[in-house]
Amino acid sequence: MCGIIGYTGGNQAAPVLLKGLERLEYRGYDSSGIAVINNGALSVVKATGKVRALADKTNDGSSLLGNVGIGHTRWATHGAPSDVNSHPHLSADGKFAVVHNGIIENYAELKQELTAHGIPFASDTDSEVIAQLLQYVYCGNIISAIKILIDRLRGSYAVGIICSDSPDTVYAVKKDNPLVIGLGDGENFIASDFAAALEHTHDFVQLGDGEIAVITPRSAQFYDSTGAQTDKTPYKVDWDISQAEKGGYAHFMLKELYEQPRAISDTVRPRIKNGEIILDKIAFDDRNVNLIEKIDIVGCGSAYHAGVVGKYFIEKLCRIRVNCMLASEYVYSDPITDNRTLTVIISQSGETADTLAALRLAKKLGSHTIAIVNVVESAIAREAHDVLYTHAGPEIAVCTTKGYTTQVAALYLVGLKIAKTKHTISDERYGKLLNGLLEMPQKVSECLKSAETVKSYADMFARHKCVFFIGRGTDYAASLEGALKLKEISYIHAEAYAAGELKHGTISLIEKGTVTVALATQSALYAKMLSNIKSVQSRDGTVIALTSADNSAISDAADHTMFIPECDDDLSPVLSAVVLQIFAYYVALKRDCDIDKPRNLAKSVTVE
Ligand code: GLU
Repeated sequence: MCGIIGYTGGNQAAPVLLKGLERLEYRGYDSSGIAVINNGALSVVKATGKVRALADKTNDGSSLLGNVGIGHTRWATHGAPSDVNSHPHLSADGKFAVVHNGIIENYAELKQELTAHGIPFASDTDSEVIAQLLQYVYCGNIISAIKILIDRLRGSYAVGIICSDSPDTVYAVKKDNPLVIGLGDGENFIASDFAAALEHTHDFVQLGDGEIAVITPRSAQFYDSTGAQTDKTPYKVDWDISQAEKGGYAHFMLKELYEQPRAISDTVRPRIKNGEIILDKIAFDDRNVNLIEKIDIVGCGSAYHAGVVGKYFIEKLCRIRVNCMLASEYVYSDPITDNRTLTVIISQSGETADTLAALRLAKKLGSHTIAIVNVVESAIAREAHDVLYTHAGPEIAVCTTKGYTTQVAALYLVGLKIAKTKHTISDERYGKLLNGLLEMPQKVSECLKSAETVKSYADMFARHKCVFFIGRGTDYAASLEGALKLKEISYIHAEAYAAGELKHGTISLIEKGTVTVALATQSALYAKMLSNIKSVQSRDGTVIALTSADNSAISDAADHTMFIPECDDDLSPVLSAVVLQIFAYYVALKRDCDIDKPRNLAKSVTVE
């Protein structure tokens, strides 16, 4: 999820690697490290915190001799940010050094197997299994060993490898995580993103899933997963550094929006094993679950909106009362809570001051707390009784995209786990929702393909002064986030309303020129939404509907329609959110707003 750079060439490797890591710093990370080969032996240096700390430890790289090496900036997913958990990881025999981006889903099984064969582990990471597995399967041919890695590793990975037996070579392999090969003059690079190598070369090769790259100073060879050599055609990247940092996207928000299939997959997939949900170390057994009388979900902004989606989902499936509460209000509300309340605390950064204060109060009042956070070992992650990480990866844009959708995905997992344990869901419904969750990354990719159509509506309505978002049930929950996206980045006044509430007051605001985005993804509520659409139109308002691909009743009635792919009604908010993020993005673009840094807002709100 974070950064990789690898170098082989005529220059000293460490200063080149450090420079490359600095180029990757914009992504956000918690620690870094480099490994080089000098005289056939590997040396590794790691540091928690900034790349500057690594540079200080190595005298800007000059004290680490050798012309071949790999470097990494880590965004921890398994194990606290610390020197020992930082990459590169060494195999126990000191022959291999490995850097890894992503998540190895079956690391626990592999670790158990390798430990049983007497291989010791040094870190708490999932990534270390790659180094130890390499050592275990290596019989003198590194390509064959990497082929076995491809067979055995489950999950997502971009991996860089050096081995003391081939002192001029860097190896790379990937699946579902980006990795490029930079081709220089008498030097070659591997990099998780062009930015890291762009000052040395503009010629790159994109590594495909299951492909292996083998680079030396004067050659770059590629193999497919069967071990057969393949030809790859290089292409030129004429970007400057700031374009490269955004991976060619105009803004971090857009880049992160497009990262959602991967982020959701990393959040959901490792937790579903043989039809069972395993929520890391959280023990949801019969005894614990039957003790829960109510659930409080607490968050701010988009995290609160994720909680509202969670409330609808969990109440419906688990038959437990769920309150969704604003963290900034929670502490003043004299909350009714005790050890029969489960408190779910949501924060992307894990440092949100209001949310942290709410967590502390909930604990003090005797509630069991579960944190849903993105940043490993953040204050909220450390202080909650249990933690479920969202694995969205670093989020740079102030306006959250993948942070929010992964929070919703995590709440779905919690809801399904409780429902299954409490036997409030049939096996059939459980299986269907589980499949729906596993298919979600694919469905999000389909939503992203509709960007052109959504953009055309955004362009059409970007000059309007007021937009309503209406929906019923879980669509109302999704409309809260849709309205916030638009407000945050385009500065258009937007209001989310439960569609049934329109007639109780808000409808007086509808007039010619008012735009209403009507969310209608719940099949049982189509007819009711149709009436709402008609009543907006009869006051001369314009309606853009957001509905499922299989529904023509709504699209026939609306003035314009945005579609989400067919999906289970209970899971539609994630897909609606993606379409509404695209809508907000293009409205803000048309209005020339500072999309990644909207006025007056900060990414992580550490004041109450
Ligand atoms: N899952 C790995 C870890 O926690 C890799 C993290 C990354 O992609 O930076 O160490």
